[in-house]
Amino acid sequence: MSDYDVAIIGGGCIGCSTATHLAEGSDFDVCVIEKEYQLGSHQSGRNSGVLHPGFNYPPGSLKAKFSTEGTTRMKEYLTEHNLPLETTGVLVVATDETERRRLSELKRRADENGVKAEIIEGERSVREYEPYAKGNAALYCPEAASIDSQQYVYQLAADAKDGGVEFYMGHRVESVRYEGEHVITTSSGELTSRYLVNAAGLYADKIADELGVGEEYQIVPFRGEYYELVPGMEDVCESMIYPTPDPDLPFLGVHYTRRADGKVIVGPNAVLAFGRESYRNTAIDFTELRETLSYSGFWKLLGSREMARVAWNELNKSYRKERFVSAARTLVPTVRENDLTRSYAGIRAQLVDSDGTLVKDPLLSEGVRSLHVLNAVSPGLTSSLPFGERIAQRTIDSLE
Ligand SMILES: Cc1cc2nc3c(=O)[nH]c(=O)nc-3n(C[C@H](O)[C@H](O)[C@H](O)COP(=O)(O)OP(=O)(O)OC[C@H]3O[C@@H](n4cnc5c(N)ncnc54)[C@H](O)[C@@H]3O)c2cc1C
Repeated sequence: MSDYDVAIIGGGCIGCSTATHLAEGSDFDVCVIEKEYQLGSHQSGRNSGVLHPGFNYPPGSLKAKFSTEGTTRMKEYLTEHNLPLETTGVLVVATDETERRRLSELKRRADENGVKAEIIEGERSVREYEPYAKGNAALYCPEAASIDSQQYVYQLAADAKDGGVEFYMGHRVESVRYEGEHVITTSSGELTSRYLVNAAGLYADKIADELGVGEEYQIVPFRGEYYELVPGMEDVCESMIYPTPDPDLPFLGVHYTRRADGKVIVGPNAVLAFGRESYRNTAIDFTELRETLSYSGFWKLLGSREMARVAWNELNKSYRKERFVSAARTLVPTVRENDLTRSYAGIRAQLVDSDGTLVKDPLLSEGVRSLHVLNAVSPGLTSSLPFGERIAQRTIDSLE
């Protein structure tokens, strides 16, 4: 007999949300296997901590559905558990006519997605919302909020534990094979389970690969680095100030976020990480870097002149502070180099297919008695309650 009905690999927000929903919705014996001794050590604890209400995602997409529903549910959850939640709203500013036109498209998407948003015209009106922001128009969305993502993950885990889920911390999954049940070899021994949920974030493609799932994809790690405003300068951003997103580019430019603890972070940029957990721009994991550089999908992604230009700009922002500051000053011109100090970094697990296309929607792939979260890109934190619920429901359906 298997040790568990369901084993979940990964103690980030997706793994822990799945565990909580399984504990609530079934009588299965469930465990979470996490290689670190702390939950949320990677993407789920190294992000902007923003609830993205979904004003900008394509209507009808899974991203739009998860983020709108996720924002509402997460606010209820955090309030119920008395966890940090600051609903500051977000101001998306336009600095030229092209961006101004894009704001109208964003407003259309917000309306279709059922997200409150309004267009603000004129520099003076923009400054009524954010006195130091520069822009001749903006989209204001009042529902955006800041949270403490690590505390949230710990609360999910506490709920899961109350429901009987067991946590194996400091257990790195080294291999998985299916022999009528899953045999999971970890750094501290072997476990068996009838069903497997792979929520291993930056290593989800590797685990999936062991079971012959998702071979047409590879995760390319993109580091996002933050600066923060030095004490005394935080007042230049009261809420969140974002640039108008370019629909052709995968990542939003550098922006300002007032976190739930009152700090204002600026960033992130998006630069190829030289390893899946290489958080500093001097850290290199040669094996993982070689894997990325020998992936044809990566070179196809960089193949377009536009993407190569963006990659070069982002790299410059990583190594040259003045470039980062210059991007930050397009939104808030009063900010000077000395007002920003280096803060933390996170790494996005961006799924890229073999044609070089970035997968933008959440992706859940099925294997033999297993589900694999291959793409939980931003806003994966915002989406984690509905996403985890969906994974739990599919697991229950398969086992029953
Ligand atoms: C810079 C940055 C900013 C972001 N900002 C936001 C934001 O503001 N709002 C938002 O909604 N989303 C944001 N996101 C996205 C969000 O953080 C992620 O979508 C989400 O955290 C993904 O959660 P996860 O559980 O899938 O992955 P993770 O949090 O990475 O969890 C995966 C876990 O699996 C474990 N693991 C991996 N391999 C193994 C193994 N072999 N054995 C055992 N355990 C293993 C890891 O240690 C890790 O704890 C941001 C992401 C980044 C990187």
